[in-house]
Amino acid sequence: MSQRDYYEILGVQRNAGEEEIKRSFRKLALKYHPDRNPDDPEASVRFKEAAEAYEVLHDQEKRQRYDRFGHAGVSGNGHNFGSSSDIFSHFSDIFADLFGFAGMGGNRARSGGDLRYNLEISFMQAAKGGEVRIKIPRHEHCRECGGSGAAAGSSASSCPDCGGLGQIRRSQGIFQFQMPCPRCGGAGKIITNPCPKCRGAGIVEKMRELAVSIPAGVDTGNCLRLRGEGEAGVNGGSPGDLHVVLHVQQDKTFERQGQDLLVRRDISFVQAILGDRIELPTLREPEAGIAFEIPKGVQSGQVFRIAREGLPYPGRNRTGDLLVELTVLIPKNISQEQEKLLREFARLENEKPLNKAKKVFKKMGSAIGL
Ligand SMILES: [Zn+2]
Ligand SMILES: [Zn+2]
Repeated sequence: MSQRDYYEILGVQRNAGEEEIKRSFRKLALKYHPDRNPDDPEASVRFKEAAEAYEVLHDQEKRQRYDRFGHAGVSGNGHNFGSSSDIFSHFSDIFADLFGFAGMGGNRARSGGDLRYNLEISFMQAAKGGEVRIKIPRHEHCRECGGSGAAAGSSASSCPDCGGLGQIRRSQGIFQFQMPCPRCGGAGKIITNPCPKCRGAGIVEKMRELAVSIPAGVDTGNCLRLRGEGEAGVNGGSPGDLHVVLHVQQDKTFERQGQDLLVRRDISFVQAILGDRIELPTLREPEAGIAFEIPKGVQSGQVFRIAREGLPYPGRNRTGDLLVELTVLIPKNISQEQEKLLREFARLENEKPLNKAKKVFKKMGSAIGL
């Protein structure tokens, strides 16, 4: 297996400075971090690769050897993370900086977690936008104990499992993580006399009603972020965000194609040949509809585009189109008179000129009831 160039891996020039190399590695480590890419072997490879490259290039001596002799100059030194080495402990200072979990105490301020809420809305709500009220359970500080979890008049003691740090080390494959201590939940302390209201948790679950403002034109999978509406922070940390993930119901009339809307209409073969005027529903006029002129000689499956009758692009001064797909229906049963006229039509088709045949069709149209 050929090895990629370390500078190339980090995406820096050969004369890049220490800061630039560090910055680039940070970026890659964040992008390919195994926590962010669970079950992605490709990301895991990129993550290790970046760590290897950084391991060599941030060290003056190793970098000089690598510059002179290439991979051979640092073999057995730089790229041996694959099995036993521990990338996380190796770069603990950088990862502390990156992910904020190396060697910190238990009473450090932590931001509250983000919450996700799946919101189903109707097609028209998505099309027109507007306000939707939702109720979400959220954890908030317990007012009774002020978030300490200890009953009035008592206090907490240091956790024996983590020695009050709130963090313990765990290995998972080649990676070693620091994680919140399960015994004290990362608090670093044990509560012997818990607050009766929150049972020692320091937080209580509360239903909150929120108004979510839906921009017009949103689609399934769009996510609205409500800052500060997530879980409460710990030890004075800021609250997390609420991510409202939208699911837009399908509509019976309009089929969505991005911001364009598709309407299907069946027409008779006489309408297809002679043209006609039909009504089409639009977003603005779902009931009354607008007039649409079928041109003469339309083919089955032909699609017409009516500009700016589709869905608005959220937050942009642009609107999609309305598409009309016409399907020409061929009658399965026809009367004797209709058959007679069609045979006459066929005869004229062979003879031409065409306008004679059209006359027959006009007659036939009224015979069919158009
Ligand atoms: Zn503990
Ligand atoms: Zn409490």
